[in-house]
Amino acid sequence: MEPGSRMHALVRRLYPLCRSITGDGVRATLDIIGEHLPLTVHEVPTGTDVLDWTVPQEWNIRDAYIADADGRRVVDFREHALHVVGYSVPVHETMPLAQLREHLHTLPGQPSLIPYRTSYYAPRWGFCLAQQTLDALPDGDYEVRIDSTLADGHLTYAEHVVPGQVTEEVIVSCHVCHPALANDNMAAVAVAVELARSLENPYYTYRFIFAPGTIGAITWLARNAARVEKVKHGIVLACAGDRGSLTYKQSRRGDAEIDRVLAHVLRDRPHEIRRFSPYGYDERQYCSPGFNLGVGCLTRTPYAEYPEYHTSGDDPDLVAPESMVDTLAVLREAVAVLDVNRHYVNLSPYGEPQLGKRGLYDSLGGRSDAKQAQLAMLWVLSLSDGEHSLLDIAERADLPFDSVAAAAKALADAGLVKE
Ligand code: ZN
Repeated sequence: MEPGSRMHALVRRLYPLCRSITGDGVRATLDIIGEHLPLTVHEVPTGTDVLDWTVPQEWNIRDAYIADADGRRVVDFREHALHVVGYSVPVHETMPLAQLREHLHTLPGQPSLIPYRTSYYAPRWGFCLAQQTLDALPDGDYEVRIDSTLADGHLTYAEHVVPGQVTEEVIVSCHVCHPALANDNMAAVAVAVELARSLENPYYTYRFIFAPGTIGAITWLARNAARVEKVKHGIVLACAGDRGSLTYKQSRRGDAEIDRVLAHVLRDRPHEIRRFSPYGYDERQYCSPGFNLGVGCLTRTPYAEYPEYHTSGDDPDLVAPESMVDTLAVLREAVAVLDVNRHYVNLSPYGEPQLGKRGLYDSLGGRSDAKQAQLAMLWVLSLSDGEHSLLDIAERADLPFDSVAAAAKALADAGLVKE
């Protein structure tokens, strides 16, 4: 199967599960991811202090519905996981529609769509439905039932590590807490899985984190205080499959290497680069001032900027295989730059070293890009003072990164520069 089809099949399979910040929906999601990648699954008990937060009770749901006087289910959780407000406390009552309305959420402006709502930290119950479904309900008594449990349990997250040549790490983090939404965020999960499978002997160690949003990233940070120092770069991956162009949100630092690398690899594609703001996905946690990691956020259309966002319109049809392939390609190019982007020192900095006698001109003979390759060598020699990385040199010289990297390798092989 082609990567695009493979990723889309995974999105379709993961999509309907009722995920939340805890519970069996997350575990089922991780089980399926685990069929593609070996995962280390972590279970963190309810009540565990994590930074300024506490791991909440675990939420699980078996069934939920609103039934009319004839017992017909007019809203049925088994048809769509978005029908229940996430973390709803259990309820089983009969009440008139007027009273039930206080617990119903609709989107009057998008009357055919079911909204996505949660109430993680306040004990409530509720249903989400299409406005047109609500409009069709006659007055009268309705039976409402939510067969859920909120009990001490665990918060579940998982990691997959691809060992690199060095122990310094790149993290790729995806939230796995949204029920029955495809672009947000199963498309990112599918792209991350494909990226992980494609890495072969990378320079950095790559750590993929599949965790519920906010509390999951906070839990990971709380439990990895020692490892955080090893995290050199990172990407929060979200909304990776809609048909919009790519948007990269910079790390809080704004000039971290990952920010420069993404700007470089996005250069020849339609894209947008935004400065950091403390609102969005888990870059908020990784970039909080105490950690201040070089972690940016890559999406296609940013959250809340497409009409289907957080509604039943965010289904697998919103996700295009070719969009996920494009997101994956950008990530692979970023990995390729990170793999070789290092600082070199010119070992023969007094006058230009003679390239001809070292065979460095001969090696270019016949190449159509010989002039560019020669220029790249001169730039690498000129700027390799330990201050400029290869990416700095490529940008300063306005040369393709590949050609600068190849020049550095040739010069290093000839003993003229060293890392
Ligand atoms: Zn979301």
